[in-house]
Amino acid sequence: MRWINFSVLAFVLLAACSGRDTVNNEPIICLTIDDGDKSIYTAAYPILKEYGYTATTFVNTGKIGRSNHLSWNDLLNLKEDDWETGGHTVNHANLPDLDDAEALWEITADYDSLCAHGFDPLSFALPSGHATQRDFCIIAGLYRNIRNSRDMTHHQPIDRLNIGYFFVQSDYAVDDIFNRIWQGTINNEALIVIGFHRFRNQADGYPANCSPEVFEQFVSKLREHDFNVMTFNNAVDKLTGANMNRNLPDITGLEP
Ligand SMILES: [Zn+2]
Repeated sequence: MRWINFSVLAFVLLAACSGRDTVNNEPIICLTIDDGDKSIYTAAYPILKEYGYTATTFVNTGKIGRSNHLSWNDLLNLKEDDWETGGHTVNHANLPDLDDAEALWEITADYDSLCAHGFDPLSFALPSGHATQRDFCIIAGLYRNIRNSRDMTHHQPIDRLNIGYFFVQSDYAVDDIFNRIWQGTINNEALIVIGFHRFRNQADGYPANCSPEVFEQFVSKLREHDFNVMTFNNAVDKLTGANMNRNLPDITGLEP
């Protein structure tokens, strides 16, 4: 009995000394993939599936089904495999350029289209990271989580309407991406969002391409270090305790 108590005490002291509520201080990693390129389904999805990971894809519903883009069937198959699909406006609109009616339509028609195809969209990524306060209010009225385009550090408490990401650019090597993760691990960041766009062998002048080979090396390294990779909404839920709060028993009216 004395040994059991000592073990519990040692664990508590270890956790307290680490300054965290858990002795495992690795950040949660989110992989977000924007703009609905077909290579998300043909290249990234099989690699992530092989290593047992999921991702969040932010799509422009006006482009779904077009040449070189995801189809609704692709997205539904990803959903079956626990991927998250989020909003990104109908046409990748630069929201500050639009008048009120246009901005409202770009955001709400995109949301409605996702809902009409069987999705329950919870997260939105600002196209190119741009939004006015007007746009932000419309988006926050529909979505729980908003991702911007700045590389930010995220510690508790997490602000689910202000989450940034590390932008993977064409010709980045695995170490360029992983250095951001090691930096976040050293900084005790709670969440690191790594953002991809396309997975092709040739960038062809596109600024945000990641070759399938580099992506596989990256995902393999995540698995090698056994990082906790979650979808955007699931990670934010976990870090904000949203699910935990939802399941708390109702204790109102009970005697102390
Ligand atoms: Zn985009």
